[in-house]
Amino acid sequence: GPILAIESSCDETACAILAPDGTVLAQRVISQDGHADFGGVVPEIAARAHLALLPNLVKATLQDAKIAPATLSFIAASTGPGLIGGLIVGTGFAKGLALALGIPFVAVNHVEAHALTARLPGIVPDGAPFPYLLLLVSGGHCQCIAVEGVGHYRKLGGTIDDAAGEAFDKVAKMLGLDWPGGPELEKLAREGNPKAISLPRPLWRREGCDFSFSGLKTAISQKLAPFGTAPLPRQFAADLAASFQQAVADVVTDRIEHALDMMPEAKLLVAAGGVAANTVLRAALEKTAAQRGLRFAAPPLRLCTDNAVMVGWAALETWQESAERNLPPLNDHALRPRPRWPLEDMASRFEAETS
Ligand code: ATP
Ligand code: MG
Ligand code: FE
Repeated sequence: GPILAIESSCDETACAILAPDGTVLAQRVISQDGHADFGGVVPEIAARAHLALLPNLVKATLQDAKIAPATLSFIAASTGPGLIGGLIVGTGFAKGLALALGIPFVAVNHVEAHALTARLPGIVPDGAPFPYLLLLVSGGHCQCIAVEGVGHYRKLGGTIDDAAGEAFDKVAKMLGLDWPGGPELEKLAREGNPKAISLPRPLWRREGCDFSFSGLKTAISQKLAPFGTAPLPRQFAADLAASFQQAVADVVTDRIEHALDMMPEAKLLVAAGGVAANTVLRAALEKTAAQRGLRFAAPPLRLCTDNAVMVGWAALETWQESAERNLPPLNDHALRPRPRWPLEDMASRFEAETS
């Protein structure tokens, strides 16, 4: 039967129902609106909002899909990494529902869910076969990962300071834009000239594929200093936004070139996470891939930012991988939510049974 998935690791409350082959039967996402006044996600507010929103959201998603709960074959939820309050709410809700229905609960690593989204049917013609190079750029992560199979991830490099989304959000804040800043900054940048203001390219051509964004942030604050508290001229703000976005696209593609050198077996470059919704970055990555004779894939924008479809898909992939290895049917009722859950730990799921 179909499966139901819940996402609650940050400030999106989401539910999705997928058929066993990954066909999306229904999905809903609520981006919580209680955080904008604080200029960032407030964990306590997020957890309470998940608690308030989940019951009706799940009910409505079941109605959209015209599915009776009794026909579900398992329930999945993000159990980490993320904000612990929200993870506890979503995991508790999902486990309770699974218990009531007498079906298994499947724990999903939120970052793994971003990593596998490109394999959802219909995104890449041949389903994004392994191995591929993944650029994960989200609110909390910025990494190059060799994706070798379900549960098999090798980190090639990552940020030494801010995550990519964090940098977008902080710069957007400096420009006086609304939160969350990434999409707002992209909008403003459309009116600006990406060559207008010269900004550094941190770690440019440096060995390996680590990232750094703090130098860019500092450079922007220096450009803003002369204005003090006076309002920024619109064109200057737009030029700064466009120049920042271009600098990010330049450094990210430079880092990806190095990552591809480290992973010559990759035939495909995949971008995932909220910042992969950025159209300038997507175009730059597509060009980099094409120059090397590689294909590029990124999920549609609504599947880049947090959603429950990716959680359901990662659960289905994990379920199937486990079945192929003749392991006992998954049931993660004993697994607890965790704020940190490195991808490197995922392989242990498929090691010989321990219980
Ligand atoms: P993580 O997945 O690492 O736990 P998260 O769940 O908060 O973090 P996502 O929802 O994947 O992150 O992504 C949110 C981030 O993506 C925010 O920082 C947001 O500003 C950024 N973002 C979204 N759309 C765009 C865009 N068009 N351009 C740049 N950044 C964007
Ligand atoms: Mg969010
Ligand atoms: Fe995310």
